[in-house]
Amino acid sequence: MRLENKRILVTGGAGFIGSHLVDLLIAKNSITVADNLSPDRQKTLNKKANYVNVDLLDKNSVSAAVKNIDLVIHLAANPLASVTASSEMMGNITMTHNILEAMKENNVKNIAFASSAIIYGNAPAPTKETYGPLKPNSLYAASKLACEALISSYCHTFGLQSWIFRFANVGGPRLRHGPTHDFIVKLRANPAELEVLGDGTQLRCYLEVNDCVNGIVKVIETADDVVNVVNLGAEDVISIKRIAEIVVEEMRLDAKLKFTAKEAKGWKGDVRIFQPDITLAKSLGWKPKLTSEQTVRETVHSLVKEI
Ligand code: NAD
Repeated sequence: MRLENKRILVTGGAGFIGSHLVDLLIAKNSITVADNLSPDRQKTLNKKANYVNVDLLDKNSVSAAVKNIDLVIHLAANPLASVTASSEMMGNITMTHNILEAMKENNVKNIAFASSAIIYGNAPAPTKETYGPLKPNSLYAASKLACEALISSYCHTFGLQSWIFRFANVGGPRLRHGPTHDFIVKLRANPAELEVLGDGTQLRCYLEVNDCVNGIVKVIETADDVVNVVNLGAEDVISIKRIAEIVVEEMRLDAKLKFTAKEAKGWKGDVRIFQPDITLAKSLGWKPKLTSEQTVRETVHSLVKEI
């Protein structure tokens, strides 16, 4: 689907990934952002986009927002939610269900969705899209897998087309959650010591946010199955310990790292290695420009000025 002269609804378009995506799409498309703006989000709302302040958990307001739209890019979710919070899990599923119902009512046929490679759980890495059976190990991951299933079923039952993205960790300006952000916040509170959950050997794949939004556009423009499931990530991984060291270095501190465990597991729902295989996305003509370490450094540079 060519992303030119389209009427696009971006849910969560005032958030981290959404605001960068809106900045990219706005030149050639008419963009409406549907978001309920948490307080620190207002400054990332692109002024050229139309904006509807809507709680996507409210079915009736969602239906109004979806009218006269060519493509819904559904990014809204609660990634800050505790991995064990069942209300947040249900919230993510309800939002997606409300959007699909609204699309059905308003005859809107195209949806792109932000899933996560965290749904692979402790699968062997790098993990391909075809890996299964999937055994997610957090409620957040379960919500993403449930949303994927809902989207697939609406595509096959009601004639929709979808692009489902399984992102690695995404980093860059405006990020407000995850280890890089949390380490900065912790070091501001205690510059002498940085607590790292687990033994720090957990491996993460970090995708730079511009690489991410360029990947979203490339895949929507080139993949043409009814349900397109595509991983987006960097080509390498970085350890949590290395992320902590980079944050300490970039903040020019001399903090000691304190590990909370002797195993590669920092919290319930944590995975030892998190790396989507990006062969499919590359075959569609996309390639990430930055490595995981470059992305982490760029994120820290931006965040120390922003927060
Ligand atoms: P974010 O928190 O920065 O943005 C989410 C946006 O959704 C926010 O602006 C928030 O106000 C909005 N939102 C949440 N609940 C809403 C509701 N009920 N009604 C209206 N708006 C609501 O998150 P992000 O990092 O930009 O992530 C975007 C998407 O990508 C999410 O679905 C997330 O699960 C997924 N994802 C993110 C990452 C990552 O590393 N950032 C990795 C994998 C998947």
